[in-house]
Amino acid sequence: MKRALPIALSATVLAGCAGPRTPETASATAALATVHVQEQATRLIEARVPRNATLASLLRAHQVSDEIVEHFVQSAKSRFDLRRLRADRPYRLQLGLDGVIREFTYQIDADKFLKVVGADAPRPDALPDFDVQVVPYEKHKALMSIRGEITRETPSLIAAVNAAGESISLALDLARVFEGEVDFGNELQPGDSFEILFEKIVREGEFGGYGDIVAARFTTGGRSFEAFRYAAPGQKPDYYDREGRSMRRFFLKSPLKFEPRVTSGFSFRRVHPVLRTARAHRGVDYGAPTGAPVLAVASGTVVRAGWTGGGGNSVYIRHDNGYETRYLHFSRIAPGIRAGVRVTQGEVIGNVGSTGLSTGPHLHYELLKGGTHVNPLEEHRKLPPGQPIPQASLAAYIAHRDRQAWRFAGSPDRALGRLAQAVTAAPTQTAAGN
Ligand SMILES: [Zn+2]
Repeated sequence: MKRALPIALSATVLAGCAGPRTPETASATAALATVHVQEQATRLIEARVPRNATLASLLRAHQVSDEIVEHFVQSAKSRFDLRRLRADRPYRLQLGLDGVIREFTYQIDADKFLKVVGADAPRPDALPDFDVQVVPYEKHKALMSIRGEITRETPSLIAAVNAAGESISLALDLARVFEGEVDFGNELQPGDSFEILFEKIVREGEFGGYGDIVAARFTTGGRSFEAFRYAAPGQKPDYYDREGRSMRRFFLKSPLKFEPRVTSGFSFRRVHPVLRTARAHRGVDYGAPTGAPVLAVASGTVVRAGWTGGGGNSVYIRHDNGYETRYLHFSRIAPGIRAGVRVTQGEVIGNVGSTGLSTGPHLHYELLKGGTHVNPLEEHRKLPPGQPIPQASLAAYIAHRDRQAWRFAGSPDRALGRLAQAVTAAPTQTAAGN
């Protein structure tokens, strides 16, 4: 059977794009000139690892001989656990027209890549040697700021963040920070605005994702909210408002990442869409596509994770204060989520699906208090915020807050600016947070 291969046949392009740190192979003598030309005549393949591929099957698919594949795999094994080859990760293979592997690179993760360089064979009749290295990407974090506005053309947070030149994941992060204060699904109106001070990761000169939002300001309907990321001594970093009150709520607003649509609310009586009988709907249905990640709304302990008949793949979590949350119809329960495991707020516990008694992909979500079902939409709102900055750390927090506020993108707050300068000048006022 002939395979159609995505091969870029190129002799000249290679010199320019042979990877970030390819050393020039010095072959300067005139006698080697023809060999050098031969070396240039290579095929470059840039693709992604197919499903269920092994390093060997991947190479064989590009007509590398079994003998070389075997030798290559043995060499690579010394530095790289071959089981870490993952579907859909990019790789690049440079082959000589003689079928010899010149170079192979594979992105192991966001931090490093595997690089195998084929050296000349020690003897004409021997196999080529392979130099195998795991190379860290050159990476740095840049502190950036943007300012955006909700307009008629950009009516949602995602659209407005896009218009400001950044992507959806930054919009989702921003929504998470303010979700206790702002209903991003319903409350936004033209004229609302935001400023975000955030970390952007640059990897090998290219965008490598976002770090943390360092500070943010959101103005909606004339009310302004601010949030600053800060780690009080002995605590994890978290977001606090101007006065050092926690932005965190006991429960996330919803178990889905952004603007979930409630397709069926909590009620004591409705006709069940599958069973066709009147029964209470003791939870809330969120419309969401198959595969959408589902988050634990609060930290707690998994009490059940598996098949529950009508609920299909389900996860139940017990929380403090006598609460329990239940998430039904998953297409897949996240790896490692099983009874007895501790989960933290916002952790992904599975993916939306339609397993069990369900008419289509959605998340059925229940909240119980002392063993009784309650309406999550009401209960989530009622609960008090998390712990504020401890009194002893408040002065350091205020100093940190004012330094960050000074760096916002838009028109900086002049009064805050002077204060920030004064604080920076005072050597005793060094805040420990980030
Ligand atoms: Zn339901």
